[in-house]
Amino acid sequence: MRRPLIAGNWKMYKLPSEAGDWLTELLASLPRNGRAEVLINVPATHLAAMVRALGDGPVALGGQDLSAHDEGAYTGEISGAMLRDAGASFVIVGHSERRAYHREGDELVNVKLLAARRHGLVPILCVGETEAQRDAGDAEAVVLRQLERGLAGLELSEGTGLVVAYEPVWAIGTGRTATAEDAQQMSATVRNALEGLLPRHADEVRILYGGSMKPANAGELLAQPDIDGGLIGGASLDVTDLVTIVRAA
Ligand code: PEP
Repeated sequence: MRRPLIAGNWKMYKLPSEAGDWLTELLASLPRNGRAEVLINVPATHLAAMVRALGDGPVALGGQDLSAHDEGAYTGEISGAMLRDAGASFVIVGHSERRAYHREGDELVNVKLLAARRHGLVPILCVGETEAQRDAGDAEAVVLRQLERGLAGLELSEGTGLVVAYEPVWAIGTGRTATAEDAQQMSATVRNALEGLLPRHADEVRILYGGSMKPANAGELLAQPDIDGGLIGGASLDVTDLVTIVRAA
């Protein structure tokens, strides 16, 4: 019932001038009528070129962060309305790199998530524990706290308006991946918590796994019952790798 979502995260890689050709190559390589929805989250500067290359092609575009504010004197910020107007339909909130390098806490992540919804963007809420937290036996508590605080005040009229990405911090960009069993277990824990937080919609929310997903491990991860797709950094920069993951979904 949940359509798999394969979501790339380009982080701060590639140039706007490279993005259009890359997307054209992706469109030519994607399976026709594939099962998975494909999304690429790019720097806001890349959206215009990608919208041009996309035409009415079957790929969604997203941002990697948004301002908590709707508009105003906030130099350097990019609002949800700007992303939407530029062609994005999704946006990542609370990525661990923003939590770590920009000190974004759960409260700010929550305000950003609500801002995304206000502007018609589907938020992808990232949650995940550090290695120290996992070693201390706190992984579940950390993830559930991030989930509960990140979703505070959210009202869904339809569950497809939210995506949650479980991304163990120690697996992001490291080449280390959670085992399929551990990733499934945490995703089931998230699903269970969603039943309390968003009654009636928990079954519709897509839960992604993120953390060094690549062609070699995607099949096993994506076969888990509560893993509905992937949030993919490094491997999403390469068309061949990304298409292989899309085919595995
Ligand atoms: C990410 O950027 O969210 C991510 C999971 O990166 P990588 O796939 O490179 O670990």
